Amino acid sequence: MTPADLLRQMIHAHGPISMAEFMAMALNHPGGVYAGPAIGAGGHFTTAPEISQIFGELLGLALVQAWLDQGSPTPFILAEAGPGRGTLMADLLRAARVVPAFLAASRLHLIETSRPLRQVQAERLEAFSPVFHDELRTLPEDAPLLLVANEFLDALPIRQFVRTGQGWRERLVALDQAGHFVFTVGPLMPAGAKPGAAQDLVETAPAREAWVGELAARLQRQGGLALLLDYGEDELAGETLQAVLHHDKVAPLEHAGEADISSHVAFAPLAERARLAGARVHGPLPQGLFLERLGGRVRLARLCAGLDASAAEAQEVAYRRLTAEDQMGLLFKAMAVVAEGSPPPAGFAAA
Ligand code: SAH
Repeated sequence: MTPADLLRQMIHAHGPISMAEFMAMALNHPGGVYAGPAIGAGGHFTTAPEISQIFGELLGLALVQAWLDQGSPTPFILAEAGPGRGTLMADLLRAARVVPAFLAASRLHLIETSRPLRQVQAERLEAFSPVFHDELRTLPEDAPLLLVANEFLDALPIRQFVRTGQGWRERLVALDQAGHFVFTVGPLMPAGAKPGAAQDLVETAPAREAWVGELAARLQRQGGLALLLDYGEDELAGETLQAVLHHDKVAPLEHAGEADISSHVAFAPLAERARLAGARVHGPLPQGLFLERLGGRVRLARLCAGLDASAAEAQEVAYRRLTAEDQMGLLFKAMAVVAEGSPPPAGFAAA
């Protein structure tokens, strides 16, 4: 059964469902978006590590620096959430060869629900014997944790609420006569409920908040840090839910289980949850600024020095795509969560 069939069955049996249920089913079902070739030119969307190797390399050097700053804990858990095609981790590990003791001390753990993507990651990272997890909860706790996640949080499901004449209601997904998914609204929320202030449509992401809260609590217990990169803002202004099919934007409820569906990440509520767990938060910083501070330009120059003119030009275009303000440099952000008492990671302490 396809995700769309299952969603129809759920709605027939139980009535309208939340946006969160719709998203989770469309993305993570074994026949859903991440079971197919979602990432890259032949998929639906392209991510930073697929654009330039410099992205993963710089994150690798930042993790190596953090590991040295924290007294070179041996062993430690090197983890990634949502590793996609394994490109970021492969680039990160290659750059980390400058400090062989880091590699020797690392135990690689990958949090990934998609079985086909696990296969790709396992092949790509075979030399590092990755251990796979369905969720954060099962990562080992007996050593410090250094974790990266790029475009992972945006895939965790959201809920939407709309202001109506009588008050706030949750926005739900129903079926019309023809069997197409359509938006509807749920019951009136209690009078005191205020999902948002200024806008008439508010998105919340309880799954993202819970995830970051659990991550921060772990970092407090076992030490270490997390680098979380995604597109978004401190606070969202209205609707950001979007669906992308083969690199084109489509209506969010069409192509359920085929189009990638995601939304902007609101970083302030995530930072708040991490702080509540006792951890320290740095950023979010614009991705462009973060990569520049990590020495992106120096790395680019080094890389280009060994290439012919057209290959060098391609590397420069790719790096600009990651850092330029009118491309990914401003919309994407980097946020770090560290255990209390740890120094700010590279790139976050103002130069
Ligand atoms: N980080 C990669 C891939 C981003 S796409 C890159 O930058 O290219 C999102 C990734 O998260 C995919 O690998 C997807 O399968 C995984 N994913 C999505 N939802 C997940 C969940 N709930 N738990 C674990 N992994 C998930």
